[in-house]
Amino acid sequence: MNTAIVGINWGDEGKGRMVDLLSDNFDIVVRYQGGNNAGHTVINDKGKFILNLLPSGILRENVVCVMGAGMVIDLKHLSEEVKRLREGGINISPRNLVISDRAVVCMPYNVRQDCLEEDRLQGKKFGSTRRGIGPIYSDKYMKKVVHTGDLIYSTKLEEKVRDLVEWKNLLFKGYGEEINADEMIDYLKVYGKEFVPYIRDTNKFLIEAQKQKKNIMFEAQLGALKDIDFGINPYTSSSNVIAAYAPIGCGCPSIKIDEVLGIVKAYSSAVGEGPFVSELFGAEGDFLREAGGEYGAATGRPRRVGGFDFPATRYGIEMQNATKIAITKIDVLSALDKIPVCVAYEFEGKRLDEFPYPDILDDCKPIVEYLDGWKCDISSCKSFEALPEKAKDYLRFLQKGLNAPISVVSVGPDREQYFYIKDNELK
Ligand code: GDP
Repeated sequence: MNTAIVGINWGDEGKGRMVDLLSDNFDIVVRYQGGNNAGHTVINDKGKFILNLLPSGILRENVVCVMGAGMVIDLKHLSEEVKRLREGGINISPRNLVISDRAVVCMPYNVRQDCLEEDRLQGKKFGSTRRGIGPIYSDKYMKKVVHTGDLIYSTKLEEKVRDLVEWKNLLFKGYGEEINADEMIDYLKVYGKEFVPYIRDTNKFLIEAQKQKKNIMFEAQLGALKDIDFGINPYTSSSNVIAAYAPIGCGCPSIKIDEVLGIVKAYSSAVGEGPFVSELFGAEGDFLREAGGEYGAATGRPRRVGGFDFPATRYGIEMQNATKIAITKIDVLSALDKIPVCVAYEFEGKRLDEFPYPDILDDCKPIVEYLDGWKCDISSCKSFEALPEKAKDYLRFLQKGLNAPISVVSVGPDREQYFYIKDNELK
Protein backbone atom coordinates (compact mmCIF):
# COMPACT_ATOMS: atom_id res chain seq x y z
CA MET A 1 0.00 0.00 0.00
CA ASN A 2 1.43 3.37 -1.04
CA THR A 3 0.13 6.43 0.78
CA ALA A 4 0.87 10.13 0.37
CA ILE A 5 0.58 12.38 3.42
CA VAL A 6 0.00 15.90 2.23
CA GLY A 7 -1.00 19.36 3.43
CA ILE A 8 -4.39 20.64 2.35
CA ASN A 9 -3.89 24.32 3.13
CA TRP A 10 -0.87 26.64 3.50
CA GLY A 11 1.40 24.12 5.24
CA ASP A 12 2.19 23.62 8.94
CA GLU A 13 -0.89 21.44 9.30
CA GLY A 14 1.02 18.90 11.39
CA LYS A 15 2.10 16.53 8.59
CA GLY A 16 5.37 15.61 10.30
CA ARG A 17 3.55 14.42 13.38
CA MET A 18 1.18 12.32 11.26
CA VAL A 19 4.03 10.81 9.26
CA ASP A 20 5.81 9.98 12.51
CA LEU A 21 2.66 8.36 13.89
CA LEU A 22 1.75 6.37 10.80
CA SER A 23 5.24 5.49 9.61
CA ASP A 24 5.14 2.48 11.91
CA ASN A 25 3.07 0.77 9.19
CA PHE A 26 5.47 1.67 6.38
CA ASP A 27 8.83 0.34 5.28
CA ILE A 28 9.90 3.38 3.31
CA VAL A 29 9.19 7.11 3.73
CA VAL A 30 9.98 9.39 0.80
CA ARG A 31 10.28 13.18 0.53
CA TYR A 32 9.55 14.15 -3.06
CA GLN A 33 9.94 17.93 -3.30
CA GLY A 34 11.27 21.08 -1.68
CA GLY A 35 14.28 21.76 0.44
CA ASN A 36 15.00 23.13 3.90
CA ASN A 37 12.51 25.97 3.49
CA ALA A 38 9.94 24.40 5.79
CA GLY A 39 10.11 22.19 8.81
CA HIS A 40 8.30 19.44 10.55
CA THR A 41 8.28 19.35 14.32
CA VAL A 42 7.94 15.88 15.76
CA ILE A 43 7.64 15.01 19.43
CA ASN A 44 7.98 11.36 20.41
CA ASP A 45 9.45 9.17 23.14
CA LYS A 46 12.99 10.13 22.06
CA GLY A 47 12.40 13.87 22.35
CA LYS A 48 11.54 16.86 20.18
CA PHE A 49 12.98 16.97 16.67
CA ILE A 50 12.86 19.60 13.95
CA LEU A 51 13.29 18.17 10.49
CA ASN A 52 13.84 20.41 7.48
CA LEU A 53 15.29 18.05 4.88
CA LEU A 54 15.13 14.54 6.27
CA PRO A 55 11.86 12.63 5.96
CA SER A 56 10.15 12.30 9.35
CA GLY A 57 10.35 8.51 9.04
CA ILE A 58 14.02 8.82 10.03
CA LEU A 59 12.85 8.75 13.65
CA ARG A 60 11.62 5.13 13.27
CA GLU A 61 14.28 2.48 13.48
CA ASN A 62 13.02 0.10 10.81
CA VAL A 63 12.08 2.68 8.22
CA VAL A 64 14.28 3.52 5.24
CA CYS A 65 14.00 7.15 4.16
CA VAL A 66 14.42 8.45 0.64
CA MET A 67 15.22 12.00 -0.40
CA GLY A 68 13.76 12.05 -3.89
CA ALA A 69 14.71 13.49 -7.26
CA GLY A 70 12.31 16.43 -6.86
CA MET A 71 14.19 17.75 -3.85
CA VAL A 72 16.71 20.60 -3.70
CA ILE A 73 19.31 19.80 -1.08
CA ASP A 74 21.42 22.26 0.87
CA LEU A 75 24.27 19.89 1.78
CA LYS A 76 25.60 21.98 4.66
CA HIS A 77 22.15 22.19 6.21
CA LEU A 78 21.69 18.44 5.74
CA SER A 79 25.04 17.80 7.41
CA GLU A 80 24.01 19.90 10.42
CA GLU A 81 20.56 18.30 10.59
CA VAL A 82 22.07 14.80 10.55
CA LYS A 83 24.52 15.83 13.30
CA ARG A 84 21.70 17.25 15.46
CA LEU A 85 19.62 14.10 15.11
CA ARG A 86 22.55 11.84 15.88
CA GLU A 87 23.17 13.87 19.04
CA GLY A 88 19.52 13.17 19.91
CA GLY A 89 20.13 9.43 19.64
CA ILE A 90 18.89 8.84 16.07
CA ASN A 91 20.90 6.47 13.86
CA ILE A 92 21.51 7.73 10.35
CA SER A 93 23.53 5.72 7.84
CA PRO A 94 23.24 4.57 4.21
CA ARG A 95 21.19 1.68 5.60
CA ASN A 96 18.27 3.96 6.51
CA LEU A 97 18.80 6.98 4.27
CA VAL A 98 18.94 7.01 0.47
CA ILE A 99 19.47 10.19 -1.55
CA SER A 100 18.41 10.21 -5.20
CA ASP A 101 21.22 10.77 -7.67
CA ARG A 102 18.78 13.02 -9.58
CA ALA A 103 18.18 15.47 -6.72
CA VAL A 104 19.58 18.97 -7.10
CA VAL A 105 22.20 20.62 -4.87
CA CYS A 106 21.06 23.97 -3.50
CA MET A 107 24.28 25.99 -3.63
CA PRO A 108 25.38 28.76 -1.22
CA TYR A 109 24.98 31.27 -4.06
CA ASN A 110 21.32 30.29 -4.41
CA VAL A 111 20.78 31.22 -0.76
CA ARG A 112 22.61 34.53 -1.27
CA GLN A 113 20.59 35.30 -4.41
CA ASP A 114 17.35 34.64 -2.54
CA CYS A 115 18.34 37.12 0.20
CA LEU A 116 19.55 39.79 -2.23
CA GLU A 117 16.38 39.60 -4.32
CA GLU A 118 14.03 39.57 -1.34
CA ASP A 119 15.84 42.68 0.02
CA ARG A 120 15.62 44.38 -3.39
CA LEU A 121 11.85 43.82 -3.48
CA GLN A 122 11.42 45.65 -0.15
CA GLY A 123 7.70 46.44 0.24
CA LYS A 124 6.78 44.01 -2.55
CA LYS A 125 8.61 40.97 -1.19
CA PHE A 126 7.24 37.44 -1.74
CA GLY A 127 7.89 36.35 1.84
CA SER A 128 10.67 33.97 0.86
CA THR A 129 12.27 31.88 3.60
CA ARG A 130 15.63 33.02 2.14
CA ARG A 131 16.89 29.46 1.84
CA GLY A 132 17.63 29.67 -1.89
CA ILE A 133 14.67 27.56 -2.97
CA GLY A 134 13.22 29.87 -5.65
CA PRO A 135 16.62 30.51 -7.27
CA ILE A 136 17.66 26.83 -7.31
CA TYR A 137 14.39 25.68 -8.85
CA SER A 138 14.77 28.38 -11.53
CA ASP A 139 18.32 27.16 -12.18
CA LYS A 140 16.99 23.61 -12.46
CA TYR A 141 14.65 24.61 -15.25
CA MET A 142 17.51 26.54 -16.86
CA LYS A 143 19.44 23.24 -16.65
CA LYS A 144 22.23 25.00 -14.78
CA VAL A 145 22.66 22.95 -11.63
CA VAL A 146 24.79 20.38 -9.87
CA HIS A 147 22.90 17.13 -9.36
CA THR A 148 23.72 14.90 -6.42
CA GLY A 149 24.77 12.23 -8.93
CA ASP A 150 27.47 14.61 -10.22
CA LEU A 151 29.16 14.28 -6.83
CA ILE A 152 29.83 10.63 -7.69
CA TYR A 153 29.82 10.19 -11.43
CA SER A 154 30.86 13.47 -13.01
CA THR A 155 34.43 13.64 -14.21
CA LYS A 156 33.91 17.30 -15.02
CA LEU A 157 32.39 18.62 -11.82
CA GLU A 158 34.98 21.35 -11.30
CA GLU A 159 34.57 22.56 -14.87
CA LYS A 160 30.81 22.50 -14.48
CA VAL A 161 30.94 24.57 -11.29
CA ARG A 162 33.26 27.11 -12.92
CA ASP A 163 30.82 27.47 -15.83
CA LEU A 164 27.89 27.85 -13.43
CA VAL A 165 29.69 30.49 -11.39
CA GLU A 166 30.68 32.42 -14.52
CA TRP A 167 27.00 32.49 -15.53
CA LYS A 168 25.72 33.34 -12.05
CA ASN A 169 28.18 36.20 -11.75
CA LEU A 170 26.45 37.95 -14.66
CA LEU A 171 23.47 38.22 -12.34
CA PHE A 172 25.41 38.89 -9.14
CA LYS A 173 27.14 41.88 -10.77
CA GLY A 174 23.71 43.51 -10.90
CA TYR A 175 23.51 43.17 -7.12
CA GLY A 176 27.09 44.48 -6.78
CA GLU A 177 28.54 41.13 -5.62
CA GLU A 178 30.67 38.30 -7.00
CA ILE A 179 30.84 34.56 -6.27
CA ASN A 180 34.15 32.75 -6.01
CA ALA A 181 34.30 29.47 -7.98
CA ASP A 182 37.06 27.93 -5.81
CA GLU A 183 34.94 28.42 -2.70
CA MET A 184 32.03 26.62 -4.37
CA ILE A 185 34.26 23.73 -5.44
CA ASP A 186 35.65 23.42 -1.90
CA TYR A 187 32.11 23.50 -0.51
CA LEU A 188 31.08 20.57 -2.72
CA LYS A 189 34.22 18.65 -1.83
CA VAL A 190 33.61 18.99 1.91
CA TYR A 191 29.85 18.37 2.06
CA GLY A 192 29.55 16.22 -1.04
CA LYS A 193 32.06 13.72 0.33
CA GLU A 194 29.96 13.20 3.46
CA PHE A 195 26.87 12.20 1.46
CA VAL A 196 28.36 10.24 -1.44
CA PRO A 197 27.72 6.88 0.32
CA TYR A 198 24.00 7.72 0.49
CA ILE A 199 23.47 8.65 -3.17
CA ARG A 200 21.75 6.02 -5.34
CA ASP A 201 19.41 5.50 -8.26
CA THR A 202 16.03 5.76 -6.46
CA ASN A 203 14.11 4.51 -9.49
CA LYS A 204 15.80 1.12 -9.20
CA PHE A 205 15.57 1.21 -5.41
CA LEU A 206 11.82 1.90 -5.36
CA ILE A 207 10.99 -0.55 -8.16
CA GLU A 208 12.80 -3.26 -6.21
CA ALA A 209 10.97 -2.22 -3.03
CA GLN A 210 7.63 -2.59 -4.81
CA LYS A 211 8.57 -6.06 -6.04
CA GLN A 212 9.18 -6.96 -2.41
CA LYS A 213 5.69 -5.58 -1.52
CA LYS A 214 7.10 -2.88 0.74
CA ASN A 215 4.70 -0.19 1.94
CA ILE A 216 5.80 3.24 0.78
CA MET A 217 4.79 6.57 2.26
CA PHE A 218 5.23 9.90 0.49
CA GLU A 219 5.76 12.83 2.77
CA ALA A 220 4.96 16.28 1.44
CA GLN A 221 6.18 19.64 2.56
CA LEU A 222 3.84 22.67 2.74
CA GLY A 223 0.24 22.49 1.47
CA ALA A 224 -1.83 22.67 -1.71
CA LEU A 225 -2.13 26.46 -1.62
CA LYS A 226 1.66 26.70 -1.80
CA ASP A 227 1.93 24.55 -4.95
CA ILE A 228 3.77 26.39 -7.73
CA ASP A 229 1.06 25.63 -10.30
CA PHE A 230 -2.13 25.40 -8.26
CA GLY A 231 -1.41 27.63 -5.26
CA ILE A 232 -1.80 31.34 -4.63
CA ASN A 233 0.88 32.37 -7.10
CA PRO A 234 3.29 34.17 -6.63
CA TYR A 235 3.04 33.57 -2.86
CA THR A 236 3.73 29.89 -3.30
CA SER A 237 6.68 27.65 -2.93
CA SER A 238 8.75 26.99 -6.05
CA SER A 239 7.92 23.30 -6.38
CA ASN A 240 4.90 21.07 -6.93
CA VAL A 241 3.86 20.01 -3.46
CA ILE A 242 0.72 18.13 -4.50
CA ALA A 243 0.47 14.34 -4.32
CA ALA A 244 0.22 14.06 -8.11
CA TYR A 245 3.90 15.07 -8.27
CA ALA A 246 5.04 12.38 -5.82
CA PRO A 247 5.79 9.71 -8.45
CA ILE A 248 8.04 12.10 -10.38
CA GLY A 249 9.58 13.71 -7.33
CA CYS A 250 10.41 10.44 -5.61
CA GLY A 251 12.48 9.46 -8.64
CA CYS A 252 10.29 6.52 -9.72
CA PRO A 253 7.65 7.81 -12.18
CA SER A 254 5.94 4.42 -12.58
CA ILE A 255 4.94 4.21 -8.92
CA LYS A 256 1.21 4.27 -8.02
CA ILE A 257 -0.31 5.97 -4.99
CA ASP A 258 -3.20 4.05 -3.40
CA GLU A 259 -4.27 6.54 -0.77
CA VAL A 260 -3.84 10.27 -0.11
CA LEU A 261 -4.24 11.39 3.49
CA GLY A 262 -4.85 15.14 3.55
CA ILE A 263 -3.81 16.90 6.74
CA VAL A 264 -6.08 19.76 7.77
CA LYS A 265 -5.62 21.91 10.84
CA ALA A 266 -8.76 22.65 12.90
CA TYR A 267 -8.11 26.35 12.20
CA SER A 268 -5.94 28.12 9.60
CA SER A 269 -2.39 29.41 9.60
CA ALA A 270 -0.07 30.74 6.93
CA VAL A 271 3.46 32.07 6.75
CA GLY A 272 4.83 34.74 4.48
CA GLU A 273 3.02 37.22 2.33
CA GLY A 274 -0.11 36.80 0.23
CA PRO A 275 -3.87 36.74 0.55
CA PHE A 276 -5.38 34.94 3.56
CA VAL A 277 -9.11 35.57 3.60
CA SER A 278 -9.98 34.02 6.98
CA GLU A 279 -7.11 35.78 8.81
CA LEU A 280 -7.75 36.95 12.36
CA PHE A 281 -6.12 40.16 13.56
CA GLY A 282 -5.44 41.92 16.86
CA ALA A 283 -6.16 40.22 20.17
CA GLU A 284 -8.22 37.43 18.56
CA GLY A 285 -5.31 36.50 16.26
CA ASP A 286 -2.67 36.85 18.99
CA PHE A 287 -4.67 34.61 21.31
CA LEU A 288 -4.96 31.81 18.73
CA ARG A 289 -1.30 32.16 17.67
CA GLU A 290 -0.12 31.76 21.26
CA ALA A 291 -2.57 28.92 22.01
CA GLY A 292 -1.37 27.02 18.93
CA GLY A 293 2.33 27.92 19.26
CA GLU A 294 2.19 29.15 15.67
CA TYR A 295 5.82 30.02 14.99
CA GLY A 296 7.72 28.62 11.97
CA ALA A 297 9.72 25.44 12.59
CA ALA A 298 12.35 26.42 10.00
CA THR A 299 12.56 30.16 10.62
CA GLY A 300 10.86 30.93 13.96
CA ARG A 301 8.67 33.50 12.14
CA PRO A 302 5.26 34.16 13.76
CA ARG A 303 2.58 32.58 11.57
CA ARG A 304 -0.56 34.39 10.52
CA VAL A 305 -3.63 32.65 11.92
CA GLY A 306 -7.31 32.49 11.02
CA GLY A 307 -10.52 30.56 11.34
CA PHE A 308 -11.10 27.27 9.52
CA ASP A 309 -11.50 28.15 5.82
CA PHE A 310 -14.01 26.00 3.93
CA PRO A 311 -13.45 27.30 0.36
CA ALA A 312 -9.66 26.94 0.67
CA THR A 313 -9.90 23.53 2.35
CA ARG A 314 -12.30 22.08 -0.21
CA TYR A 315 -10.02 23.35 -2.98
CA GLY A 316 -6.98 21.82 -1.28
CA ILE A 317 -8.72 18.47 -0.94
CA GLU A 318 -9.58 18.52 -4.64
CA MET A 319 -6.06 19.49 -5.74
CA GLN A 320 -4.53 16.81 -3.53
CA ASN A 321 -7.15 14.26 -4.58
CA ALA A 322 -7.31 13.38 -0.88
CA THR A 323 -9.11 10.13 -0.12
CA LYS A 324 -9.07 10.70 3.66
CA ILE A 325 -8.64 13.61 6.04
CA ALA A 326 -6.80 13.98 9.34
CA ILE A 327 -7.82 16.93 11.52
CA THR A 328 -5.01 18.20 13.74
CA LYS A 329 -4.69 20.65 16.63
CA ILE A 330 -8.36 20.67 17.57
CA ASP A 331 -7.17 20.79 21.21
CA VAL A 332 -5.88 24.33 20.56
CA LEU A 333 -9.47 25.53 20.11
CA SER A 334 -10.32 24.46 23.67
CA ALA A 335 -9.26 27.94 24.79
CA LEU A 336 -11.88 29.77 22.72
CA ASP A 337 -15.41 30.79 23.86
CA LYS A 338 -16.63 31.10 20.28
CA ILE A 339 -14.87 29.53 17.32
CA PRO A 340 -14.86 31.51 14.06
CA VAL A 341 -15.28 29.48 10.88
CA CYS A 342 -15.08 30.98 7.39
CA VAL A 343 -17.91 29.19 5.57
CA ALA A 344 -17.62 31.10 2.26
CA TYR A 345 -16.15 34.26 0.73
CA GLU A 346 -17.89 37.41 -0.42
CA PHE A 347 -16.68 38.99 -3.65
CA GLU A 348 -18.31 42.08 -5.15
CA GLY A 349 -21.39 41.46 -3.02
CA LYS A 350 -21.77 37.83 -4.12
CA ARG A 351 -21.22 34.69 -2.04
CA LEU A 352 -18.44 32.39 -3.25
CA ASP A 353 -18.42 28.81 -2.00
CA GLU A 354 -15.61 27.80 -4.34
CA PHE A 355 -12.01 28.96 -3.99
CA PRO A 356 -11.49 31.60 -6.71
CA TYR A 357 -8.63 32.58 -9.02
CA PRO A 358 -5.87 33.83 -6.66
CA ASP A 359 -5.76 37.40 -7.97
CA ILE A 360 -9.22 38.21 -6.65
CA LEU A 361 -8.55 36.80 -3.17
CA ASP A 362 -7.36 40.20 -1.94
CA ASP A 363 -10.84 41.56 -2.61
CA CYS A 364 -12.70 38.68 -0.95
CA LYS A 365 -14.14 39.03 2.54
CA PRO A 366 -14.77 36.08 4.83
CA ILE A 367 -18.34 35.05 5.63
CA VAL A 368 -17.91 33.91 9.21
CA GLU A 369 -20.09 31.74 11.44
CA TYR A 370 -19.28 31.33 15.13
CA LEU A 371 -19.58 27.92 16.74
CA ASP A 372 -19.71 27.35 20.49
CA GLY A 373 -16.44 26.41 22.15
CA TRP A 374 -16.19 23.51 24.62
CA LYS A 375 -13.80 25.23 27.04
CA CYS A 376 -12.24 22.14 28.53
CA ASP A 377 -9.11 20.08 27.97
CA ILE A 378 -9.61 17.41 25.29
CA SER A 379 -5.96 16.47 24.88
CA SER A 380 -6.36 13.08 26.55
CA CYS A 381 -9.50 12.02 24.63
CA LYS A 382 -8.90 8.67 22.97
CA SER A 383 -12.14 8.46 20.94
CA PHE A 384 -14.79 10.60 19.31
CA GLU A 385 -17.19 9.37 22.01
CA ALA A 386 -14.95 10.81 24.71
CA LEU A 387 -15.13 14.37 23.32
CA PRO A 388 -17.43 16.97 24.86
CA GLU A 389 -20.62 17.50 22.84
CA LYS A 390 -19.54 20.92 21.43
CA ALA A 391 -16.27 19.47 20.14
CA LYS A 392 -18.26 16.66 18.48
CA ASP A 393 -20.48 19.33 16.91
CA TYR A 394 -17.42 21.16 15.62
CA LEU A 395 -16.11 18.02 13.90
CA ARG A 396 -19.57 17.23 12.49
CA PHE A 397 -19.75 20.78 11.14
CA LEU A 398 -16.37 20.39 9.43
CA GLN A 399 -17.27 17.01 7.97
CA LYS A 400 -20.51 18.33 6.50
CA GLY A 401 -18.67 20.91 4.42
CA LEU A 402 -15.80 18.70 3.26
CA ASN A 403 -15.62 16.42 0.25
CA ALA A 404 -13.56 13.63 1.86
CA PRO A 405 -14.09 11.62 5.04
CA ILE A 406 -12.35 12.64 8.27
CA SER A 407 -10.60 9.49 9.45
CA VAL A 408 -8.15 10.63 12.13
CA VAL A 409 -8.25 13.40 14.73
CA SER A 410 -5.19 14.61 16.59
CA VAL A 411 -5.66 16.21 20.01
CA GLY A 412 -2.06 16.99 20.95
CA PRO A 413 1.49 16.96 19.64
CA ASP A 414 2.54 13.67 21.27
CA ARG A 415 2.61 10.44 19.31
CA GLU A 416 -0.31 8.89 21.21
CA GLN A 417 -2.61 11.92 21.24
CA TYR A 418 -4.98 10.91 18.46
CA PHE A 419 -7.96 8.71 17.65
CA TYR A 420 -9.57 7.23 14.57
CA ILE A 421 -13.11 8.12 13.47
CA LYS A 422 -15.32 5.09 13.01
CA ASP A 423 -17.64 4.71 10.01
CA ASN A 424 -20.68 7.01 10.22
CA GLU A 425 -19.55 8.51 13.54
CA LEU A 426 -19.69 12.03 12.05
CA LYS A 427 -23.02 11.66 10.29
P1 GDP B 1 4.10 20.32 9.37
O1 GDP B 1 5.14 21.05 8.60
O2 GDP B 1 2.82 20.18 8.61
O3 GDP B 1 4.59 19.05 9.94
O4 GDP B 1 3.73 21.22 10.61
P2 GDP B 1 4.69 21.82 11.73
O5 GDP B 1 5.54 20.77 12.30
O6 GDP B 1 5.35 23.05 11.25
O7 GDP B 1 3.60 22.35 12.77
C1 GDP B 1 2.86 21.53 13.47
C2 GDP B 1 3.09 21.86 14.93
O8 GDP B 1 1.96 21.49 15.64
C3 GDP B 1 4.23 21.08 15.56
O9 GDP B 1 4.80 21.87 16.57
C4 GDP B 1 3.55 19.87 16.17
O10 GDP B 1 4.23 19.31 17.26
C5 GDP B 1 2.25 20.47 16.59
N1 GDP B 1 1.11 19.57 16.52
C6 GDP B 1 0.81 18.63 15.58
N2 GDP B 1 -0.37 18.07 15.84
C7 GDP B 1 -0.85 18.68 16.97
C8 GDP B 1 -2.06 18.57 17.71
O11 GDP B 1 -2.96 17.81 17.40
N3 GDP B 1 -2.19 19.41 18.78
C9 GDP B 1 -1.23 20.30 19.15
N4 GDP B 1 -1.46 21.08 20.21
N5 GDP B 1 -0.09 20.44 18.48
C10 GDP B 1 0.09 19.63 17.39
